[in-house]
Amino acid sequence: MTSSYDSLGIRPIINAHATLTMFGGSLMPAEVRKAMEEAAGSFVDLHQLQKSVGERLAELTHNEAAYVSCGAASGLLLATAACISRHTPEAYEDFSKLNGVPNEIIVQKMHRNSYDYAVQEAGAKMVEVGSMEGTRIEDLERAFSPSTVAIFWFQGAMNEPSELPLKDVIHAAGKYKVPVIVDAAAQLPPVSNFWNFTQQGADLAIFSGGKDLAGPQASGLILGSKDLIERIRGYGAPYHGVGRPMKVGKEEMMGLLAAVERYINLDHESLLQTYESRVEYWISGLNGKKGILAQRDYPNEAGQPVPRTRVELPVGMQKEQVIDALMQGDPQVAVAPSENGNALLLNPMTVRDGEPEIVLQRILEVLG
Ligand SMILES: *Cc1c(COP(=O)(O)O)cnc(C)c1O
Repeated sequence: MTSSYDSLGIRPIINAHATLTMFGGSLMPAEVRKAMEEAAGSFVDLHQLQKSVGERLAELTHNEAAYVSCGAASGLLLATAACISRHTPEAYEDFSKLNGVPNEIIVQKMHRNSYDYAVQEAGAKMVEVGSMEGTRIEDLERAFSPSTVAIFWFQGAMNEPSELPLKDVIHAAGKYKVPVIVDAAAQLPPVSNFWNFTQQGADLAIFSGGKDLAGPQASGLILGSKDLIERIRGYGAPYHGVGRPMKVGKEEMMGLLAAVERYINLDHESLLQTYESRVEYWISGLNGKKGILAQRDYPNEAGQPVPRTRVELPVGMQKEQVIDALMQGDPQVAVAPSENGNALLLNPMTVRDGEPEIVLQRILEVLG
């Protein structure tokens, strides 16, 4: 029997939720698969490939330098290692040398999230500033110490108007010569984010290769400062040390390059039109049926400038129940629960042509 999802009894999912790693992130378009397939066919010098791919990626994204990591989370770890080693070049020669070296990473308390564990895995200590209600410039100023090695900025669901804005963070960091690292894992679209954060003065911006970029699942993109990226290169596989367990293959490097080339040349205007039509289709098919209130919601959960459909459920129908029923049906359909209230959120970015109809039909069936 040939290996396939089918042979394992694994059923494919129609994904109207998001580019979630637990569902496989995103689907690679033909260009990316072809690049990976070709890369898989010959041996190469991996150091040289990472360097050459990095140069091309830097050019394409209008950055000084670029590096392919094995995911955005691994990018966070490697970026942290680079910031710690700016102060203590020998910090990663041996694990024991990490003891007591300057390792403080400043982060707004409201930006703390489950991905910042990757920062701590490099041996950093998180120094929180501000509160869940907000962050003031004085909070940040007070946190700088001789042990500060970087400020991390997380972009996504954690952003609130009461946070200290990125430009203020960059300005303050400049005074103390501390790098600012932006976790922009899910911040594509817009495509201009490839250069927006670094042109504003962030030292590095880190993206997931396996979300909307639709590159290999196990790829990430680090863009920005040449100095930091050279340090990162020294820690990444095939070198031994802190980055070795997060190796990136020739297939991921070439696949990510193809994904970035494709993404830059995509007609993002027309894609947005497609998303708007899917959202509109769901609204017209659901609103007013079976006690449903369906509306356009904007921006989406990651703060991307893309609409989604919010489906308020009728009284007596709990969102968890509906989501479970959709996942147990045939085909399996994944949708997101609303953060507040009793609603489903439908994402037009991760469904393929022909699937919005199935999502709509399954929701109506589940609601009886
Ligand atoms: C998805 C995400 C990550 C992790 O990206 P991977 O490429 O899956 O490692 C990190 N930070 C944020 C904010 C994310 O949304």
